[in-house]
Amino acid sequence: MKTNAIRINEYGGPEVLNYCEIDLPDLKPGEARIRHNAIGLNFIDTYHRSGLYPMPLPTGLGSEAAGVVEEIADDVKVVKVGDRVVYTGRPADSYSEQRNFDANQLVPIPDGISFEQAAALLLKGLTAWYLLRKSYAVKTNDDILLHAAAGGVGLIASQWASHLGANVVGVVSTPEKAELALAHGCSEIIMADEDVAEKVLKLTNGKGVSAVYDSIGKNTFISSLNSLKPHGVMVTFGNASGPVDAFAPSELASRHSLYVTRPILADFINTREKLLHGAQELFDLVVQGIIKININQKYALKDTAQAHRDLESRKTTGSTILIP
Ligand code: NDP
Repeated sequence: MKTNAIRINEYGGPEVLNYCEIDLPDLKPGEARIRHNAIGLNFIDTYHRSGLYPMPLPTGLGSEAAGVVEEIADDVKVVKVGDRVVYTGRPADSYSEQRNFDANQLVPIPDGISFEQAAALLLKGLTAWYLLRKSYAVKTNDDILLHAAAGGVGLIASQWASHLGANVVGVVSTPEKAELALAHGCSEIIMADEDVAEKVLKLTNGKGVSAVYDSIGKNTFISSLNSLKPHGVMVTFGNASGPVDAFAPSELASRHSLYVTRPILADFINTREKLLHGAQELFDLVVQGIIKININQKYALKDTAQAHRDLESRKTTGSTILIP
């Protein structure tokens, strides 16, 4: 069977993304075949493409999609043909019209959530879930700092944190992004080119924040540490500006006993029970209208290179999807 998909034969810029016809193998035990209706674009896809997170080549790309189950292996019990499902996980191959995938990692899409919304929300929303509920569990009246607050993870996390009662200070790069973040749960905004730590101390009467959620990495790591109050928690979860340099543990001591964690989503959804639990919490908030999903960019699957260019040049806000 043939299908269309993105393949890369070498690491590099968006130009290495090839849209081509590929052979879809027969299903292996435990797998389902999904026909995609919408595919989520995520910053991690750019790390896979550039080789920052290496994968054996040639490879597909993409970590999230929503669609319909077309066929299942004989031993699969958790989904059936015709089910509407969404998933996130490896191997990266969601940039495709159809694919085979581990059925245990498929999440049924509830009524009231479209394929496009599902593809725009699962990976980013589950990330917001574990960041705010597990990595540092936000409490009412906590001051927290959230980088890239108008981005995909950012707009979901700002709404969720505000719902949990936190005062969310968002960092963004443009006035338009500031407006968007303020409309989605942020109570204060700091512009990315300002002295973020200095501004945080001003906003918190010299105290600092309880936690920083930092997906920018290299450029912001030290200023994020400087924004924390004693015993504060630094959650460094992304590398939009490059990976964080090595640092001495004494940096945490001199800033009054800080904690640092470097989490990845996969560790929080490594059983079907945990995956479905997190997804349920997320879907409930979306269906109730507490978290709004902003699909602010859509591209045809064959135009994925342009989508990568726009994401990496900070032109996007909220979620981006690809349509096969
Ligand atoms: P975003 O939509 O947030 O896009 C990235 C944003 O980062 C940009 O819009 C930009 O916002 C900001 N940014 C700051 N500096 C740079 C830079 N030098 N280059 C590019 N962007 C920059 O992407 P996602 O929502 O897909 O992902 C957000 C982050 O979360 C990523 O770093 C990703 O790797 C990470 N992540 C980590 C996970 C984990 O489990 N560890 C899981 C999911 C995501 P602005 O212009 O406002 O500064």
